[in-house]
Amino acid sequence: MVAATRAAADLLTALGVDTHTEDTERTPERMARALADLTTPPPFTMTTFPAQGYQEMVVVNQIPFTSVCEHHLLPFQGTACVAYIPAERVVGLSKIPRLVEFCARRPQVQERMTTQIRDLLAQHLAPDGIGVLVRAEHTCMSARGVRALGATTVTRAFQGQLDNDHLTRAEFLAQAGAGS
Ligand SMILES: [Zn+2]
Repeated sequence: MVAATRAAADLLTALGVDTHTEDTERTPERMARALADLTTPPPFTMTTFPAQGYQEMVVVNQIPFTSVCEHHLLPFQGTACVAYIPAERVVGLSKIPRLVEFCARRPQVQERMTTQIRDLLAQHLAPDGIGVLVRAEHTCMSARGVRALGATTVTRAFQGQLDNDHLTRAEFLAQAGAGS
């Protein structure tokens, strides 16, 4: 953290931010720690269990996340809806929000985050179908640049039955509140 703190101090100084007041003398260190937190994926393991005959869609909705866009290193925040149709196994339910966090806490773009969630779920669970819908507000678009405060970006990724079957996909999108 020493090198990151020094670099943060250099950046703030270059930007004309005073880091020598009582309030800001530890700002470079706090800034370095905050950025490290946002850009370091937490440890993650997928725990799965036998499906035991359950064959319907499992939907985990309104999963909150914070990520940082890799173009501006500014946060984007929102919610993810993740669904799958079990084949042989189901996943421990808390692992779905953990998977979202694992994909979010790194320099990201929303499109890639969406497909990463799908691909990791496919790799570890091999279900019959996957649907992922991510809805986020990007501060690089709301706090700067075009200043489109409140504009949300929606991205989706599908696999298997949710990719092929229109009715199943429509059911997922209704659950995810895609129309709202
Ligand atoms: Zn950006």
